[in-house]
Amino acid sequence: MAAVRDFYEVLGVRKNATDDEIKKAYRKLARQYHPDRNPGDPSAEERFKEVGEAHDILSDPEKRKAYDQFGAGGGLRGGGFDPGAFRDYARDAGVDMTDFLSDLFGRVRGGAAPGSGGGRPRPERGADLETSVNLSFDDALSGAQLTIPVERDVTCATCHGSRAEPGTSPTVCPECEGRGVRTRNQGFFSMSETCPRCGGEGTIVEHPCHTCTGRGRVRRTKRYTIRIPAGVKDGARIRLPGRGGDGLAGGPPGDLYVRVNVAPSGLFVRRGDDFTVEVPITFPEAALGAEIEVPTPTGGRVRVRVPEGSGDGRTLRVRGHGAPRSDGSGDLLVRLRLQVPGDLTRAQREALERYANLDGGADARAELFR
Ligand SMILES: [Zn+2]
Ligand SMILES: [Zn+2]
Repeated sequence: MAAVRDFYEVLGVRKNATDDEIKKAYRKLARQYHPDRNPGDPSAEERFKEVGEAHDILSDPEKRKAYDQFGAGGGLRGGGFDPGAFRDYARDAGVDMTDFLSDLFGRVRGGAAPGSGGGRPRPERGADLETSVNLSFDDALSGAQLTIPVERDVTCATCHGSRAEPGTSPTVCPECEGRGVRTRNQGFFSMSETCPRCGGEGTIVEHPCHTCTGRGRVRRTKRYTIRIPAGVKDGARIRLPGRGGDGLAGGPPGDLYVRVNVAPSGLFVRRGDDFTVEVPITFPEAALGAEIEVPTPTGGRVRVRVPEGSGDGRTLRVRGHGAPRSDGSGDLLVRLRLQVPGDLTRAQREALERYANLDGGADARAELFR
């Protein structure tokens, strides 16, 4: 671990310096080491950055307080910087130290801050991919095995992901000297931006691989055989870990998500693991009770007992015959629909009139006027 220079020392101020003294010291040093005044002097540039970092921390009261307690040269542990203790402090204090920490740790590691390229491509996880399959109602219920084509990025077999033509290798980017970021100075401010020359990679491929034109990856259609579990719901997403795009520079592959579209049945409506089916019954069946046959989602039929005096819309639950699940299956809900005959024969009409008379002229609407 390289030592982190004391920020007070960097600015040349005392530990109890006022905000004003810190600001003044920073301005003076920033002017002195400004790259415009020191063209082509890397040590001045380094100093300029250091001064900027010290000012960033010491000009912010929260960060300064934290630094005083745990920073290099300050406080508890005899001058050593203790990242663990510092992190605990930041967490307890509820202070967002993310930038500060990554900055500091980047320096402590003796390299560039994370995310700035660093000259070597960082391992990168492959892309997550999503595809969809269309299933018939029957296949969704019984489960299915499908082969699906998936377009994905795979590591180029010619350059093995290096992006460079075999026999050549990427060179350090001259613009950013491998840092991946370019620092521009405007007055007293220095602004960092992703290096436009290398796109933040820190390296430049002068002889791109001819197979992948320097991408390091190529598009390939791969076929996967996937098992769709029985009873899958419309809109379900099935995750296939590691079946997404290849990672970069040794990073892990992404995942593949398969979205399942299930065709409607026209007869059965699914809610949760239950299916509902509407079943017509005649007036005599509803009034007298009956044993009827109803279709099941799997294409079979099941006998159901309609209790006498069943009204229109009554729903009977038939155990089982729903969607399969790990602990059995859902149920089939039979909703009775009372059919009213339209074209009556003369004999039927007379029979109904006789029935109406037998009913003693009872008023079906008496409840409404009570
Ligand atoms: Zn290649
Ligand atoms: Zn660059």
